[in-house]
Amino acid sequence: MPRPIAATLHLSALRHNLSLIRRHVGSANIWSVVKANAYGHGLARIWQGLDATDGFALLDLNEAILLREQGWQGPILLLEGFFQPQDLALLDHYRLTTTVHSDWQLEAINAARLSAPLNIYLKLNSGMNRLGFPVGQADAVWQWANSLSNVGEVTLMSHFANADNHIGAGEQFSRIQQASGHIPAARCFANSAAILRNPETHYDWVRPGIILYGASPSGDIADIAGIGLRPVMQLQSEIIAIQALSAGHQVGYGSRYSASGSQRIGVVACGYADGYPRLAPSGTPIRVDGVLTQTVGAISMDMLTVDLTPCPQAQVGSQVEIWGETLPIDNVAAAAGTVGYELMCALAARVPVSVCP
Ligand SMILES: *Cc1c(COP(=O)(O)O)cnc(C)c1O
Repeated sequence: MPRPIAATLHLSALRHNLSLIRRHVGSANIWSVVKANAYGHGLARIWQGLDATDGFALLDLNEAILLREQGWQGPILLLEGFFQPQDLALLDHYRLTTTVHSDWQLEAINAARLSAPLNIYLKLNSGMNRLGFPVGQADAVWQWANSLSNVGEVTLMSHFANADNHIGAGEQFSRIQQASGHIPAARCFANSAAILRNPETHYDWVRPGIILYGASPSGDIADIAGIGLRPVMQLQSEIIAIQALSAGHQVGYGSRYSASGSQRIGVVACGYADGYPRLAPSGTPIRVDGVLTQTVGAISMDMLTVDLTPCPQAQVGSQVEIWGETLPIDNVAAAAGTVGYELMCALAARVPVSVCP
C-alpha cells in the first residue's frame, strides 16, 4: 500500500471554469495563465483540459517548449518577456509572443535575425512598479515598436495591483486610459480579479489564472461563489492512527495543543513536505468522513492531527479531505494566513496525482 495521500485533478472542472469565464468576458480572447507549472497542477497533465483556450500565458521558456512539443499550435505569451538577447532564437523558432517591458528588449529584437516578425505585448507600468515602461512613455514606445520591421502585432498590456481588494483597479485603469486611450492597438489588462469585478477592463484579451483552477483571487470565496467555478484540485488522505487524550494531554511538536478534557485525535498522513502550510494554526478547517472539523497542534513534516470530536464514527482509514470539492482551498489558506495560489503551487512532488477526464 502506498502512503494514502493523493491529489486528484478534474479536467472537467477546468473545462467548465474556462467556459464560464468565456461566457463572462463575452468577445474577449482568453490567455489561460499556466505559469508555475499550471499553478502547481502540472502543465503536462492538465493543459489539454484547456485546449479550448485562445492562448497560453506562462513565464518559463521550457514550459513554452513543452506545450509546443505536446502539440499546442496556438499562441503562447511569455508574461515576463525574454531574459537575454540569445533567447530570441527560441522565441523565433517556437513562435512565441513576448512581453516587452524594457528598452533593451526592443533593441535586442531590432538587432536579431528572425525568420518572421515577433508579436509583442508592450507592458505599461501603471502603478504596480514591477515591470514595464512608465505609462507616460506609452506613445513613444508604441511608435518605436511599430517602426521596427522585426516587430509584428503590438498589444498594450498592464497589470493591476489591487483588483482583488478594496482599493480596486480604478486608479490604475484611469492612468492607463489617460496615457494610452487614443493608441489604436489591442489591449490586455485583466487578471482574474479584474475579470470578475471590472468588466470595463476586459477589452481584447484577458488573463485568468487562479479562477481557471476554481479558487478565488481575493481569498474570499464570496468573490467566486456566485459564478459556479469548480475546484480542479482535490487533496485527500486518510486517518492512519487515533489517540485518546485526557485533560492536559498535549499534541505534537512544541506541545502547542492541550486537551481540555477527553478527546479523540486523528493522525492524518499529510504534512508540510506534502505542501500543507506548516504555519496553519490549530483550528484550520479539514474534513473527516465528510464532517467539517479542524486541525490541532503543529503541522509536522509528514503528519498533521485533527479533532475527531465532531465525527465520533471516524476510524483508522477514514477519508480526509484536505481541500477540494467540499472544502475550498481558500478557506484553508485564509486560516493559514496565505492564499490559495501558494497552496496550489506548493503541492509537493511526492504526492501521487491522478487526472480525471
Ligand atoms: C499571474 C499573472 C496573471 C494571472 O493572475 P491571476 O490572479 O491568477 O488571475 C495575469 N497576468 C500576469 C502578468 C500574471 O503574472
